[in-house]
Amino acid sequence: MCGVLGVAGSEQAGRELYGGLLMLQHRGQDAAGILTSGEIFHLLKNRGMVEKAIHRKSLETLKGEMGIAHTRYATMGVGSEDEIQPQILSFPYGIGMAHNGNIVNYRELAKDLRLRKRRHTNTKSDIEVLLNLFADAVAESTESTHKTNDSINVEGVFAAVQKVHDECVGAYSVVTLIAGEGLLGFRDPHGIRPLVIGRKKRKDGAYAYALASESNALRFLDYELVRDVKPGEAVFIDRDLELHSSESSSKSGKTDPKPCMFEWVYFSGPESQMEGVPVYGARLSLGRALAEKIKDRIESQDLKIDLVAPIPDTSRPAAIALAECLGIPYREALIKNRYVQRTFILDEQKERERAVEVKLSPILSEIKGKHLLLVDDSIVRGTTSRRIARLAKSAGAEKVYLASTCPPIVSPCFYGIDFPDREELVAFNQALERIQKKLGVDELIYTETKDLQKALGLKGLCMACLDGNYPTAIDQAESFQEQRKKDRLGSQA
Ligand code: 5GP
Ligand code: MG
Repeated sequence: MCGVLGVAGSEQAGRELYGGLLMLQHRGQDAAGILTSGEIFHLLKNRGMVEKAIHRKSLETLKGEMGIAHTRYATMGVGSEDEIQPQILSFPYGIGMAHNGNIVNYRELAKDLRLRKRRHTNTKSDIEVLLNLFADAVAESTESTHKTNDSINVEGVFAAVQKVHDECVGAYSVVTLIAGEGLLGFRDPHGIRPLVIGRKKRKDGAYAYALASESNALRFLDYELVRDVKPGEAVFIDRDLELHSSESSSKSGKTDPKPCMFEWVYFSGPESQMEGVPVYGARLSLGRALAEKIKDRIESQDLKIDLVAPIPDTSRPAAIALAECLGIPYREALIKNRYVQRTFILDEQKERERAVEVKLSPILSEIKGKHLLLVDDSIVRGTTSRRIARLAKSAGAEKVYLASTCPPIVSPCFYGIDFPDREELVAFNQALERIQKKLGVDELIYTETKDLQKALGLKGLCMACLDGNYPTAIDQAESFQEQRKKDRLGSQA
């Protein structure tokens, strides 16, 4: 997963993008980059978290009123420096791009670009393919219309986005900077990954605009949230700060929104809101749904729980709501070491397992002799739960129950979340009792898929990891998975 951001008409583009990236840090910690444009491009990018990757002092070099930025969590490619976003091309105009998502058929597209267009791609990451494909389409669609000193032909830019939609399979929320011309944002036709628009009034009365993966970045930078970019929509803020939307020029107008449910379950910051649904509120609802599921058994004393505790941090609102509904004490039984990063980021299974212990330490006085209901947002490989169950037992818990706000994850994600092969997913092809046993918990309670849908209250959702219904074609997904595995192995060697 990744975080993307763009600003147009900003008095301090470089600084704003840096601040906004800090708010999107949870979406990716592998690398970060900022690109701004006045007459020419200014680019800073490096490996690591935002504060390490980009020195505050060098922000002064990021000149111009427009820019884009990215925080990266590598799900494609080998993690090399060349893959860090934003990426730029000099022709046509000078185009910079960053995206969140995955292009499932990027290898086929890369081959095609080489054969038909003689365009070379130098990395194994999908952004380079996306950028080349888009640049090629812009060159074609604006060739006959652009004269010296004229501004860019917006319809031509939108036609190029349409070409991307026609050729790319997958999830992509994209921010693009066209040097000296404007800021473009677009989402794949299902809007699988989020992208929101904000604006704020400038001293001269015009509006500055911002695009961001999440609304928390907009708020932090004092942009008011206007709306989500719609699935399949492109928005372009030109150099005169006029906002154009492809919606007004599109003929079909039919869309099939499938935003990823995992944004609410785990990925997005709790203070963000997408598609009109606040993340924190959704997590509270998920906790209530879990409470409803076991309420009768608590009342009939078939299930005895002394306290409810979150596995910090994501599941905290769900755990609070669950405890509240059941009238059972809520406690922080596990304390997160805030100086250790998320376990998922470590690539090797062994490292990951050790990290769980460093990351969470139990409060013995709260746990000893208790029937504990732990709440986690999701169970993927089961590593976290297994370790924590063992930790709670060794801290003296008499019973360890586990509730997951996400229903069983049984299919891989091809759209940017690091859910691996089926075989690695602990819930794949397993009955509940078997998963319980594998995790070493006394009982396991999953949110029902229908309750998840109800909690989010959205008609369309991508829940492919739960039900195997992928919103796009996935016939190229196998080669995509293989490549991803190969890249991983190669990068570890
Ligand atoms: P597991 O240990 O079962 O493989 O993964 C589940 C744990 O990882 C949960 O505690 C959840 O909060 C976290 N998690 C789930 N998905 C992701 C992800 O895409 N990125 C990161 N960093 N953590 C995740
Ligand atoms: Mg977690």
